[in-house]
Amino acid sequence: MKIGVIGVGHLGQHHARILNELKDTELIGVYDSNQSRTEEIAYKNNCKAFIEVTDLLSEVDAVNIATPTTTHFTFGKQCLLAGKHIFIEKPICSNLEDAEELVSIAKKNNLKIQVGHIERFNPAIIALSKILINPIFIEANRLAPFTPRGSDVPVVLDLMIHDIDIILSLVKRKVKSIKAIGIPILTNDIDIANAKIEFENGALANITASRISLKRERKIRFFQKDMYISLDYQNKSVQIVKKNPEIDKIMTEIMAGKRQPIISELYNTQKLEIIEKEPLKTELESFIDAMQNNKKPIVNGQDGYEALRVAFMIMKDIDKNRKESNLI
Ligand code: NAD
Repeated sequence: MKIGVIGVGHLGQHHARILNELKDTELIGVYDSNQSRTEEIAYKNNCKAFIEVTDLLSEVDAVNIATPTTTHFTFGKQCLLAGKHIFIEKPICSNLEDAEELVSIAKKNNLKIQVGHIERFNPAIIALSKILINPIFIEANRLAPFTPRGSDVPVVLDLMIHDIDIILSLVKRKVKSIKAIGIPILTNDIDIANAKIEFENGALANITASRISLKRERKIRFFQKDMYISLDYQNKSVQIVKKNPEIDKIMTEIMAGKRQPIISELYNTQKLEIIEKEPLKTELESFIDAMQNNKKPIVNGQDGYEALRVAFMIMKDIDKNRKESNLI
């Protein structure tokens, strides 16, 4: 596959590096509105530095878009209309109408869209496929220190959307109701937010995202009938706490305080037999595989749209609550 990258900033430089390393891809070149950055990344990866997007499009089969979110639609549409498959960073677009249009153009032209919801490729999340997940309560916390990158959109679109996508992919039910709250602190947009999402099957998710924290934390916990699962996205580990399977046989010892009714198992990547691999590499390999073998991408345009739709439901409720409340 001949590929180009549009936007080679913090994340796009890694797209270019990995696409240059993968054996099934040929990185043709890169384009960035910052010309010296284009040249720097092109030089590092021994590929062309394009001055015009149209020139890049004339030489590739697919494009990775890693520009700021507010520009995703313009580049996404231009690439799709030129007949190119796209990998577009998350969130797919900064509004729902644009996202819907991209999905529809791709469908009409039989092109792939993969959206950069990278946590789907986190080894700890992949490990969950080995564990039966049927959560009734989910608690997610994604806290980060402030950085200007990503602050062109509210924290719900920049950070919370990662957990929204993961939760939608695991619960697989329709959203019944949403209650959310959020406030701007450092920017004019929402910088810290909490959302409670109720699903049609009664499952409840409580998600917090902040881009104004002192420390970085990325955790998600699942409570279900037979176990409690705590997943650390950063450490790529999963801890499972469940009822001791011998509980009936050892009840006397448990009552005497000699044995525990609960057992805990820590699964790190080694124990989960998951090869410690850069999630972005796994993600891009899956995009290439989807294109080469005409498969549905693991996170396709519709998935990106659904995550965005829920994010907008959350932001709508935040707005409503802010207007109704005298506190914020
Ligand atoms: P960044 O600001 O570091 O990089 C953006 C690059 O795009 C810069 O080099 C900039 O010069 C270039 N650019 C800006 N406007 C442009 C335009 N109109 N035309 C061409 N180039 C333009 O930002 P980043 O952190 O790399 O984020 C880029 C995208 O990646 C965002 O959508 C963000 O949400 C997403 N992102 C995803 C993850 C993830 O975990 N999947 C992590 C970080 C960022």
